[in-house]
Amino acid sequence: MPYKALLFIAALCFPISGFTQNNTPAQPKLIVGIVVDQMRYDFLYRYQSKYVPCGFKRLLSEGFSCENTKYNFTPTYTAPGHAAIYTGTTPSVNGIIGNDWWDPEWGEHRYVTTDKRYKTVGSPTERVGQHSPTVMLSTTITDELRLSNNFKSKVVGVCLKDRASILPAGHIPNACYWFDDATGNWITSTYYPDSMGLPAWVQDFNARRLPEQYLSKPWATDSTLRYDESFAGWDKYNKGKYGNFPGNMPYNMPELRNAQGFGVLRFTPIGNTLTLDFALESIDKMGLGLDDAPDFLCLSFSSTDYCAHQFGIHGEEMEDVYLQLDRDIARMMDYLDKKFGKNNVLVFLTADHGGAETPVHMQDLRIPAGVFEESKLEANLENLLAAQLGMPGDFIHEVGNQQIWLNWEALNDLDMNPDEVAHIAIDYLRAQKGVYDAFTRDELTSFPLEFPFAAETRRGIHPRRSGDIMFQLDPAWHADDKAFKLGGTTHGSPYAYDTHVPLIWHGWKVPHGRSYAPISITDIAPTLSAMLRIAQPNGTTGQVIEPLIIGY
Ligand SMILES: [Zn+2]
Repeated sequence: MPYKALLFIAALCFPISGFTQNNTPAQPKLIVGIVVDQMRYDFLYRYQSKYVPCGFKRLLSEGFSCENTKYNFTPTYTAPGHAAIYTGTTPSVNGIIGNDWWDPEWGEHRYVTTDKRYKTVGSPTERVGQHSPTVMLSTTITDELRLSNNFKSKVVGVCLKDRASILPAGHIPNACYWFDDATGNWITSTYYPDSMGLPAWVQDFNARRLPEQYLSKPWATDSTLRYDESFAGWDKYNKGKYGNFPGNMPYNMPELRNAQGFGVLRFTPIGNTLTLDFALESIDKMGLGLDDAPDFLCLSFSSTDYCAHQFGIHGEEMEDVYLQLDRDIARMMDYLDKKFGKNNVLVFLTADHGGAETPVHMQDLRIPAGVFEESKLEANLENLLAAQLGMPGDFIHEVGNQQIWLNWEALNDLDMNPDEVAHIAIDYLRAQKGVYDAFTRDELTSFPLEFPFAAETRRGIHPRRSGDIMFQLDPAWHADDKAFKLGGTTHGSPYAYDTHVPLIWHGWKVPHGRSYAPISITDIAPTLSAMLRIAQPNGTTGQVIEPLIIGY
């Protein structure tokens, strides 16, 4: 037999790196997927001089950073972002087209994960736990992990926000928890197993009343640090209407809590600290990472998002929330090192979208920007349609997410040509300041790919769920005139500030390095599949990030 053929057979017969004696792929004991809500790519570096050595800087100095990772669809909101990370595909396939939308199946407005078939567990408030992941049409990497090994892997989701806990953990997790503002408790839904009552460890954790303890102190800057990345005079821009934080730092948290309840912690660094406290408790009490089947903790930090919405991205509030999150990440890494050893845990960190500059601030700098009054669009279009069609009517179900859901039943009753009606709205939109362009769904599918953002917009469209008309705003414009017209900021566009996010891998078998190759957010899940040697989520459209797999 030729020498080369012998070598080939030898390669087939002997275990290669990453395989154990019995040819089973070695897997990490624990995977921690971290999603930092509204973390722009530049936040990895903007505050770096004040980051501690063992937080973000450690992830970068030991791990692998995909520096050019972007969302490959629009709209860029929390639910679609989390779903894309974990399903490896876009709203066009997984069906998560927004945080809320007009649902043609329900015939009414829906919040993404609302599911009234299930009940709240852990709070007397009925609706806060009435959730399930059923709206998500394709599997997650966490589902596939459970399916890969006869459910030996444990999966748990933890986040202040229900949707950012529920969607990552998939359809068949062991547990899923989120925060209840009314009680300050971590709660769940009867969708999840063993949830007729909260497990004892969750009850014990809730009984420690950490929110009360954390909210007993003011929120102040750290006097040992200089917040010199924050803009002077930012006070006039730090008043989004997402929360209610009168004045400036330091904030009187006991007073705010008394007036507004536990929900105020979402807007401060302690929201992230509390999330991590609970997540580490779940590792300990659920026995994650103790056997050979890899367990998966889906851990999302939301306070960065609430904070950016409320205060904008250039204030001391934003700087402080990242400096404190950095210290929390260092605390988590230290915990994982001590409990498991750093080669047994695979960590990845990314974001569910980026975030915009504050339009009124940009205008003051003489950079083109603005806020489109989407909240008035439905009434304006109804009036226009009534005038042009010659009769009043309810022609529009809903306007939201820069989409319009037309009431086809009402229009059909009038024997209207659908294209004619849609183009009355489109012509109106095209004449409005800040509107880049507007299209019907059908038009979008026929545009050449090189038309700006046609591909990204298409990937955000689900045929049974999305609106009939989509419009895109100019760069630096957003459409939330109700909450962020005069201050704070938001996200949702296909522009780089909303799509460019961090992606760092660390720990188990991850080589050290960085890449500037274009990576889509949908590449995370298939890359995890390749690392774990399990099936890709069933709707996967992303690709494996090869530099992470070389050497397996
Ligand atoms: Zn978000």
